[in-house]
Amino acid sequence: SSKNARRKEVKKETGLGLTFKKDESFGEWYSEVVVNSEMIEYYDISGCYILRPSTMAIWETLQAFFDAEIKKMNVKNAYFPLFVTENVLQKEKDHIEGFAPEVAWVTKSGQSDLEVPIAIRPTSETVMYPYFSKWIRGHRDLPLKLNQWCNVVRWEFSHPTPFIRSREFLWQEGHTAFATKEEADKEVLEILELYRRIYEEYLAVPVIQGRKSELEKFAGGLYTTSVEAFIPITGRGIQGATSHCLGQNFAKMFEIDFENEKGEKAKVWQNSWGCSTRTIGVMVMVHGDDKGLVLPPKVAGVQVIVIPVPYKDANMQAIFAACTSTVQTLLAEGIRAEHDLRENYSPGWKYSNWEMKGVPLRIEIGPKDIASKQVRVVRRDNGAKTDIPLANLVEVVNGILSNIQASLFNAAKEKRDACIKVVHTWEEFIAALNNKKLILAPWCDEEEVEKDVKTRTKGELGAAKTLCSPLDQPVLPEGTLCFASGKPAKKWTYWGRSY
Ligand code: AMP
Repeated sequence: SSKNARRKEVKKETGLGLTFKKDESFGEWYSEVVVNSEMIEYYDISGCYILRPSTMAIWETLQAFFDAEIKKMNVKNAYFPLFVTENVLQKEKDHIEGFAPEVAWVTKSGQSDLEVPIAIRPTSETVMYPYFSKWIRGHRDLPLKLNQWCNVVRWEFSHPTPFIRSREFLWQEGHTAFATKEEADKEVLEILELYRRIYEEYLAVPVIQGRKSELEKFAGGLYTTSVEAFIPITGRGIQGATSHCLGQNFAKMFEIDFENEKGEKAKVWQNSWGCSTRTIGVMVMVHGDDKGLVLPPKVAGVQVIVIPVPYKDANMQAIFAACTSTVQTLLAEGIRAEHDLRENYSPGWKYSNWEMKGVPLRIEIGPKDIASKQVRVVRRDNGAKTDIPLANLVEVVNGILSNIQASLFNAAKEKRDACIKVVHTWEEFIAALNNKKLILAPWCDEEEVEKDVKTRTKGELGAAKTLCSPLDQPVLPEGTLCFASGKPAKKWTYWGRSY
């Protein structure tokens, strides 16, 4: 459109700003914002992306939180190889059926063909479990709780999207084995709660904890729980992270047996759980705006950017010195602050530049501020400006940062909640789907019915499917019928289109 053409022109002139608007062209906006904010660089292999320092700063924060929490649960980190043989990969039938289409293979070394091709891990159940079988002998070897931080490769055929659906991604994968199902069940939920905290406490993104349908559960597992996020603009759900109970399926195939306390041979109960760099994409989609990224302070690599505002004839040295000492004061209190003293850019240019990068708070220091021993503070999330006395700097900045963190979450939750629509009939369901709602419906919990809903909603935008059945179930009055089949409903389930 001519509007877009104009924006492109403005952008070319200034090197700033976004060509696309979030609520007009969401997909293009997203691709542009992850690049212009310097989080992502596109790479010459489709579906693979360069994660730049501001991305890695966020990932490292999530990693530090999660790693410390699982260590409290006595999970230990390990590292297993990237490669797996075809023979081992195929051991669990449902598992390989689920993953086969996305497995990448190494077939050559130099010019010569490998005798047997080697797969690159899409996930590491089959890489690890032969060794679980070796290491677990008696009940004293249990529980065994390992985690690894690594990359995996899934050669996704559907539309790759930075962070959200990439062909190589970073994640952690936890793999644990227990003597009893009760212990496994308990851990599944403990991990799910940590995933909720990653999204809600760190990324300020509201999620729903729930259980996946039989159709959507992890290939080869017993049951899958997940945290589900929602993107209001596109009306799509997105699986945030998953905590699976694998039951004894893998233990059977990989012969992970142990002698229990009574001296009998038994099979272990296993879990696996994973959370990837998709988290960061969800955060971008939920909080970003037409000026660029909006980072929640808890994960922002730079929380405060200090910018000198020189006027004609001002004492530049004094202003620069004030910027430096402000940064030092903040750093000393554990606030991640930087200054931007580049002389070849105007303050206005710098404001837009750091807004694009999503830095939560900007501090401006000019001659007047120095004279009155204050600084001007500007919030990224709502643009609010306040002058604060230097004497209270740290206290006030800390207060504003936690306020931003809370308001981002509250705003996102309000928007998400406004999208939730309870339906009882097929007509209501279709209307809600067309209105991009996050649909909560009574369901008979039958696989055939979910497949049928998929078929009946097939179209350009993709079919509707179950997102999860919330752990926190609303009351289901007796006699409630399934919205799709008319059979007695067994539970409330969230439905929608998804990423
Ligand atoms: P899974 O092993 O399939 O349960 O995946 C664990 C988690 O990794 C999922 O809940 C997603 O959040 C994430 N994930 C799966 N596929 C991708 C992908 N292609 N790109 C980024 N993250 C992914």
